[in-house]
Amino acid sequence: MSDPHELKVLDPATEEIVATVPAATAEDVDAAVVRAGRAQTRWAALAPADRARLLRRFADTVDAHTEELAQLEVREAGHTVGNARWEAGNARDLLLYAAGGAERLLGSQIPAPGGWNVTFREPLGVIGVIAPWNFPMPIAAWGSFPALAAGNAVVLKPAETTPLTALRLAELALEAGLPEHVLQVLPGYGGTAGRALVDHPDVAKIVFTGSTRTGREVMERCARLVKPVTLELGGKSPNVVFADVDLKAALDPFSFLDNAGQDCCARTRILVQESVLDEARAVLADALAAVVVGDPADEKTRMGPLISARQRDRVRSYVPEDAPALRGSAPDGPGFWFPPTVLTGERHDSPAAREEIFGPVAVLLPFTDEQDAIRLANDTPYGLSGSVWTRDVGRALRVSRAVRAGNLSVNSHSSVRYWTPFGGFKQSGLGRELGPDALTAFTETKNVFISTEGPAQ
Ligand code: NDP
Repeated sequence: MSDPHELKVLDPATEEIVATVPAATAEDVDAAVVRAGRAQTRWAALAPADRARLLRRFADTVDAHTEELAQLEVREAGHTVGNARWEAGNARDLLLYAAGGAERLLGSQIPAPGGWNVTFREPLGVIGVIAPWNFPMPIAAWGSFPALAAGNAVVLKPAETTPLTALRLAELALEAGLPEHVLQVLPGYGGTAGRALVDHPDVAKIVFTGSTRTGREVMERCARLVKPVTLELGGKSPNVVFADVDLKAALDPFSFLDNAGQDCCARTRILVQESVLDEARAVLADALAAVVVGDPADEKTRMGPLISARQRDRVRSYVPEDAPALRGSAPDGPGFWFPPTVLTGERHDSPAAREEIFGPVAVLLPFTDEQDAIRLANDTPYGLSGSVWTRDVGRALRVSRAVRAGNLSVNSHSSVRYWTPFGGFKQSGLGRELGPDALTAFTETKNVFISTEGPAQ
């Protein structure tokens, strides 16, 4: 049973307690929102260049603490140290990118008879950000930093298992000179602190990343207050591999093993043209055998543990011991370990091929031709990400336009860059984060008409 008053943060590689953190109550959320509301008025009134300067100083402070933040992420989330350094750098870089946006939040001038018509991008007010445990630092940053740059205040609830890097980022913000209460982090449980944030009438928008199930509830509760919401939810992304490519590159196992598969963009449905299926199986078997799974703090490790015993049990439920599969290895003993696995005996409509497993498990499925590949790729309630591998440029364009997903890569497995838009089709979400329009998502458009005819007599 979890204690309603505190969160125990475990190192998923050792199961040791790393820290104990007080859990925010609904009253704490209310008080934080009141403080945020006051701070936001002053923050929004700053000249954009001054807001930008403070955010750049925040970026410099994050930069000076990259290693500390990375080590914290290794301890609380089991991320490999190489990944964790990238994540701290991503938070820094997004701050710099968003800071520039503060100075370029443009409106428009629209011709109108009898006067001038101008539009303004007004900040929304207090933004509630609810972050998951899979990428605690980047996802906290993606929801919060563009919102801050646009003149909003943020109250952020990290996942109960991974509050530490978010708490540290808020301390670094203060150290860098951001005004008090502009960025507040409230660790707590989803059912109490998370719901209180969603239901609070003075929280102008919710940015939620997590499961589709919880996202649906968040959206329903937001609807009662007509509160806008951005949802970044689950995925079951295809990796579509045509027979004409270098299979070693196309079947890079880190297309689904990055972060031990706890990645909403993981390409967990490996769709391979049937003429090269046997070869693909052999390539994947070799690749899985070569993956170094172990202590995430070791520079040589490529894959760490899962986040929790609960998550490991969930992943295990999709992989019966006798299931036909290609398997890598994982450590025994303490820690939430699971070996890299590709299930080879699934049908495309079986639960392992349709549901988000969120672990180092993919399914290998054959397709016949281009139309079959598109049909299978789209036969999912999700639409977040995916890859298309072919040397035929026409086919690459046709397939990437036909696959209904928000983030596709051709002859590459990349998905997320802070300067390009990120988000899902279908039940993978609503709205976009990052990219050139990131700040706009945290504003309302105000239209003002100014008469040149003088006041009416
Ligand atoms: P959730 O979606 O339940 O949690 C995500 C965040 O929402 C956490 O901060 C959580 O708090 C909070 N939360 C939970 N319930 C509520 C609520 N009723 N109102 C407001 N906030 C709430 O994901 P889980 O951690 O339970 O993971 C379960 C599965 O979800 C995973 O196995 C995976 O399939 C999927 N998932 C997908 C992610 C993605 O990026 N697509 C990210 C994380 C999970 P708390 O930590 O206290 O639960």
